[in-house]
Amino acid sequence: MQDPIYVTRTFLPPRAEYDAWLDKIYESHILTNNGPVHNELEEKLRSVLNADHLLLTSNGTIALQLAIRTLGVTGKVITTPFSYVATVSAILWEGCTPVFADIDPRTCCIDPAKIEALIDDETTAILATHVYGFPCDVDAIKDIADRHGLKVIYDGAHAFGTIYKAKSLTSYGDACTLSFHATKLFHTVEGGAVILHSEEVRKKMRLQRSFGHIGDEHFELGINGKMSEMHAAMGMAVLPYVPELIKTRRSLTERYAERLKEVNVTMLSIPVETEFNYGYLPLILPTGKRQIVTDALAAVQIHPRRYFFPSLNTLPYLEYAQCPVSEDMASRMLCMPLYRELSLEDVDRICSVIAAALK
Ligand SMILES: *Cc1c(COP(=O)(O)O)cnc(C)c1O
Repeated sequence: MQDPIYVTRTFLPPRAEYDAWLDKIYESHILTNNGPVHNELEEKLRSVLNADHLLLTSNGTIALQLAIRTLGVTGKVITTPFSYVATVSAILWEGCTPVFADIDPRTCCIDPAKIEALIDDETTAILATHVYGFPCDVDAIKDIADRHGLKVIYDGAHAFGTIYKAKSLTSYGDACTLSFHATKLFHTVEGGAVILHSEEVRKKMRLQRSFGHIGDEHFELGINGKMSEMHAAMGMAVLPYVPELIKTRRSLTERYAERLKEVNVTMLSIPVETEFNYGYLPLILPTGKRQIVTDALAAVQIHPRRYFFPSLNTLPYLEYAQCPVSEDMASRMLCMPLYRELSLEDVDRICSVIAAALK
């Protein structure tokens, strides 16, 4: 019997390399509050992502909440129904109202053509997700936002490592948030970041991220969204491996594509001018076939994941709004196992189970 295969497996750097960072923390005796390892990671990410104004956070959800709050977003936010629940819960938690624009089936990202009709006097922002690391139509979204005076926030939880039009995908929008959760391509166990475009906004966000005070002087309402030294240490130990992780995932993805060529499933194609990060391997199955494929894989201990499910416009605590494309995708999408230790033989085995189930 083979070991079970899950949709992902967190990359852990060699223990000695993580330990070397922990040794530094034991020496400094600083565990959090913008310690030296935190600052070093922030500096490294600035250069890797080509982002002058970057702020680390304790997770990707608080990064979204800070982006909404610091940019002064209020009222209605036009957003995507095809994302992780944190995208919409951050909007709600900050006291704003999500308004769903349906997605483009080619990228699963928000469809710019659906945005404009939803804008009214109360709309102040667009919050879109670069789904699976595929770029949103950032130019069309910027054009709409500029014409209507809206802020643009990208949930870039999947965007780390994707290059779009010769720039890191994380550099688009007034703010782009990142998640460094253990399930993501680059991780700090739990963690996140916000990329901004002015030092003034970054300073304001940094203050709000640290209770709104500096020393004993209190300036405004804040929260605790800081990243600890131990989390930053994991980031420092994982970061050098990211290019290799992307390379492995790329060859696994190409193997899936080759083995599924003759099978009735659809893989999203990489848009033009995009150097993809191979963060996820979403398969679109024929209508009504997902359970059959899931069961066939589960029978041999292979566990892909419905991602994203459910379509967020159907959440029980929200007023329902129709988004037929997103609902269709949420009913057919299955993310396949993709991680460093997965072998090409594993991929072949997974693909033959899928092929047999769809025969
Ligand atoms: C993971 C994820 C988040 C949440 O990030 P956390 O770091 O877990 O808070 C938000 N949005 C998307 C699209 C995600 O995949």
